[in-house]
Amino acid sequence: MARIVMKFGGTSMAGTERIRRVANIVRKQQAAGHEVAVVVSAMAGETDRLVNFCREANALYDPAEYDVVVASGEQVTSGLLALTLQSLGSKARSWLGWQLPVRTVEAHAKARIEDIDSDALMASMQAGEIAVIPGFQGIGADGRVTTLGRGGSDTSAVAVAAAVGADRCDIYTDVDGVYTTDPRIVAKARKLKAVTYEEMLELASVGAKVLQTRSVGLAMKEGVRIQVLSSFVGDDAVPADDLPGTMIVSEEEMNELVEKGDMERQLVTGIAHDKNEAKVILTRVPDKPGAVAHIFEPLAQASINVDMIIQNVGRDKGETDVTFTVPQVDLARAQALLEDRRSDIGFNRIITDSKVAKISVVGVGMKSHAGVAATMFKSLAERGINIQAISTSEIKVSVMIDEDETELAVRVLHTAYGLDANDEAA
Ligand code: ADP
Ligand code: ASP
Ligand code: MG
Repeated sequence: MARIVMKFGGTSMAGTERIRRVANIVRKQQAAGHEVAVVVSAMAGETDRLVNFCREANALYDPAEYDVVVASGEQVTSGLLALTLQSLGSKARSWLGWQLPVRTVEAHAKARIEDIDSDALMASMQAGEIAVIPGFQGIGADGRVTTLGRGGSDTSAVAVAAAVGADRCDIYTDVDGVYTTDPRIVAKARKLKAVTYEEMLELASVGAKVLQTRSVGLAMKEGVRIQVLSSFVGDDAVPADDLPGTMIVSEEEMNELVEKGDMERQLVTGIAHDKNEAKVILTRVPDKPGAVAHIFEPLAQASINVDMIIQNVGRDKGETDVTFTVPQVDLARAQALLEDRRSDIGFNRIITDSKVAKISVVGVGMKSHAGVAATMFKSLAERGINIQAISTSEIKVSVMIDEDETELAVRVLHTAYGLDANDEAA
């Protein structure tokens, strides 16, 4: 017998008929002899709808009240799933974030889970009851409801799995695993049997939204075994215990899979894209020590994450242009902050562009092999795609390009690295 935490995303919970299918999957897992707890998202589109209500009510909304509004989506689906399970004859109850409680710290609207009291959950599971927990929500030090940031139900599920010492955390979504790239963009994307925590963390952080970045970081830290799989299956589907989805594994487990011939080592494991960043160029910044510190200090103080940075070759007269990217949602704030500090920084103009995309290739193979970046630049150049900025890490190369060329670039790179489904090398 195992203890399994099952998480169902928005499309899996979209309406009573879908919830009935989810209930069947959960009941089947319990009938296989396991203790189960379920974490659910709001119905697809619901959180967006609630966020829009907040914006309409008050453009400069108070994050604590925003949390009260947006946490409601998961409250609805957790209750509906418990009701559906009961209607099918199962013992089930919902446990809201404040009831367990799921204690969170840091800011409203982007809270972090600090601790989950697992006593009630364990008792409920051991009594054969199915515990249904709304994802995305918790309770802050101020005693008020909090939410974890978009996509946060993945992190709720991993945190619950860690708290109850689950054998596995199954993340059910609308695709049947993690692919070499978003299968909605590249038809030839291949499903991966396994991917390492390190690669998944990097892929998630550069835009592969199948798992929230924080959920992967937490799973890596707590040693939670994650499987990503589809809830869109028929009643005769293989049980999740046969691991039909993608497992997130340690480096050692991956080596074993490769040795057994179950996985092939590729130089590039996956490709991700992100259209949510914006480019900022400051022209004619003084080319002297301290100048860039003047630019980035106020942004850091305002918790605005700067990603790619380029300082161009100095012009004449000791001046240079500085280019960097910030999340699109923070662009207006960043621009206002920089305008405020115009005299300290001493720049001439601010030029911004939201129509950019970041394309990233990720793979642990890069640690020991050169040439990944060169292949990327050459393949994009051959298709006339202009690179506006570059950044790298040990296992990743990212480039910024025109947003209109996103799909083309992802397809071209997928082919260039031999990842297409019908490739012999794959
Ligand atoms: P959920 O609502 O279940 O949390 P999400 O929409 O957050 O689902 O994540 C699933 C989506 O992630 C898929 O529909 C797919 O379009 C997208 N996606 C992006 N990159 C990948 C990838 N490499 N593998 C699988 N899915 C991906
Ligand atoms: N409902 C939340 C969102 O849409 C959390 C989640 O689904 O993971 O961001
Ligand atoms: Mg998600």
